[in-house]
Amino acid sequence: MSLTDRDLAVFNAIVETLLPSVEGDGPAWTTPGGELGLEENLPAVFARLPHDQNRKDIKLFLSLLDSRAGGLLLFGRPKAFTSLGEGDRAEAVRSMERHVVGLIRGGIRALKTLTGFLWVSTEDAAIQPSTWAAIGYPGPDGPPPHVPKPIKVVEVETDTEMSCDVVVVGSGAGGGTAAGVLASSGLDVIVLEAGDYLNESDFTHLEADAYRDMYLDKALNTTADGGMAILAGSTLGGGTVINYTTSFATPEPVREEWDRVAGFDGVFTGDGYATSIQQVERRLDVNRSHGWPSTRARLMEKGLRQMGWHVDEMPRNVAGCTERDCGYCPLGCRIGAKRSSLLTYLQDAVDHRARVVTGAHVIGVTTEMGRATGVIARVGVSRLVVRAEAVVLAAGALNTPAVLLRSRLGGPATGDYLHLHPVTAVWARFEQRVDPWTGIMQTRYSDEFADLDGHGYGFKFETAPLHPLFPAAFIGWEDGASFKRDILGLGHLDVGGILLRDRDHGRVVVRRDGSPVWKYVVSKYDQAHIREGVKRATEMYAAAGADEVISSTIRPIRWRRGDSVEAFMEGVDRIGYGSNRTGYFTFHQMGSARMGSNPQTSVVDAANQVHGVGGLYVMDGSCFPASSGVNPMVSIAAIAHRGATLLAERIG
Ligand SMILES: Cc1cc2nc3c(=O)[nH]c(=O)nc-3n(C[C@H](O)[C@H](O)[C@H](O)COP(=O)(O)OP(=O)(O)OC[C@H]3O[C@@H](n4cnc5c(N)ncnc54)[C@H](O)[C@@H]3O)c2cc1C
Repeated sequence: MSLTDRDLAVFNAIVETLLPSVEGDGPAWTTPGGELGLEENLPAVFARLPHDQNRKDIKLFLSLLDSRAGGLLLFGRPKAFTSLGEGDRAEAVRSMERHVVGLIRGGIRALKTLTGFLWVSTEDAAIQPSTWAAIGYPGPDGPPPHVPKPIKVVEVETDTEMSCDVVVVGSGAGGGTAAGVLASSGLDVIVLEAGDYLNESDFTHLEADAYRDMYLDKALNTTADGGMAILAGSTLGGGTVINYTTSFATPEPVREEWDRVAGFDGVFTGDGYATSIQQVERRLDVNRSHGWPSTRARLMEKGLRQMGWHVDEMPRNVAGCTERDCGYCPLGCRIGAKRSSLLTYLQDAVDHRARVVTGAHVIGVTTEMGRATGVIARVGVSRLVVRAEAVVLAAGALNTPAVLLRSRLGGPATGDYLHLHPVTAVWARFEQRVDPWTGIMQTRYSDEFADLDGHGYGFKFETAPLHPLFPAAFIGWEDGASFKRDILGLGHLDVGGILLRDRDHGRVVVRRDGSPVWKYVVSKYDQAHIREGVKRATEMYAAAGADEVISSTIRPIRWRRGDSVEAFMEGVDRIGYGSNRTGYFTFHQMGSARMGSNPQTSVVDAANQVHGVGGLYVMDGSCFPASSGVNPMVSIAAIAHRGATLLAERIG
């Protein structure tokens, strides 16, 4: 399915409306959107959308914008969007953003996201978009270094059969750890990873390259209703290669809650799990001596201190991080300081003769007489069959349940209890330059509001690195001049991330073709905590001296110095916190094949084995009995460490 010339013309009309020529210094301000040629790059991004359904939806929306009937449906006027004058088009966009029908809000938001994405991105370091000069964004610091690849991957070019003791599906925080522990104990291990093998030599530090090459579905996927953008790693090493290195152990109250929810007696509160956390922290070099705060973090800390609220330094899994100069590490660490699974447990596995196949997309698990016997994967056009005594699924909480569902294994809870730690943000503008792409990704956090309900549910404040693509895609639109000022003024913005511990959950299901769909909406209960987060973050940045705070609603609401926060909140409340009203991201996915003693409400037992299926294990974020409330990498690795240690004892 491809875009027609007419589709591109309609998209161009949208770009013309969202990015009009405005007064300012340089072409990024003054060039009319219709002359930017963004539509020329749209087909390449369109082709990368994860599913035909996404392409159909975009085409349908574009064709509705091009018809009178569509105009009536989308913005209440019996006119094609393309036939409207400039002012009317802007009003039509605002009307779609306010629409009661979520799909219409989602449709215009998707086009706005694509516009922002194309406006600030490039896949060729030699061609810098004019937006970069306006922002003062320098782009990558030269080409990547040449670093040899220490892992020799097994090439699969024809239909192939392999066998081993344990096949591990996925190579991230869970899979990498499991493979390292299992291979180090002497077992013959094969790791199948859907992503490719990239290392320091491949980290171009262009955002568009990183999303295309190292993220799940090229970072273009969302929850089913488009309400939450999904970010997860998909490369050898999984999320640990692109993540922010924040390394919290599972908090004690969460460990107690997990045992309670799972119906376990001392699994998470016991010594075995505690030992696994310690071992993981040691192998990943978790420490608190790499916490030099970026300007972003410093401003957040200032606001927190002014308010008298909790603030602390984050532990990180880095060794030899030069700290001050980089800031591009979310796009892959060029100096190998990030202690990803690739450089730790996965390397241990390979050092103990584990075989690794990349580009291997596991379709399903094979069974005989109720026991797992291996997996079937697709590698390019070839079919790979791996026979194994045990199968460890660690494809992440978004995909492990999909493998189970495609295999008709796991019972009624498979895919249920999906937690996403929804993240929204406020954007704080300061007079000083913040250059939010510089400095360590995350060094300060606040747990002041981590327990709003007396049951451990609330939110954390964290900052995050901001390169142009992220805000250009995420910050909402109310008029072209304000949007340009927000994005081209990025050098003065800080971002206050509100990381929700979600009490409620969604579900992973699969389409007829077996591809996963993530059904998740932020519940009213959790929305109340998000609202508190937006309010408190605004107070925090007001106290830090911000001139302006911008909400992440589909149409931004602005607090300006001297305004009352209550009045600002009334504006945000009017738009609301539901899908495609407030913008959400998920960086942390959990719980969709959870551990527990009851096969009706959980998928795996205390030894990570799928209820009723011998030899089939899950060792990744899917196992969490409830959301973790802290960034989950260490908890995932610890669950995999414990599970793999038990498995090695069982079959070793
Ligand atoms: C931008 C970003 C920043 C983050 N920062 C932090 C942080 O600072 N601290 C923290 O604790 N957490 C962070 N996280 C989250 C953390 O990285 C993840 O929670 C963690 O990596 C998940 O581990 P996992 O093993 O469950 O899955 P993953 O690490 O996602 O690994 C799953 C792997 O399975 C592969 N796969 C999927 N389907 C298949 C299939 N069918 N066949 C074969 N392979 C398959 C995927 O390609 C992927 O590589 C961040 C995440 C993102 C996206």
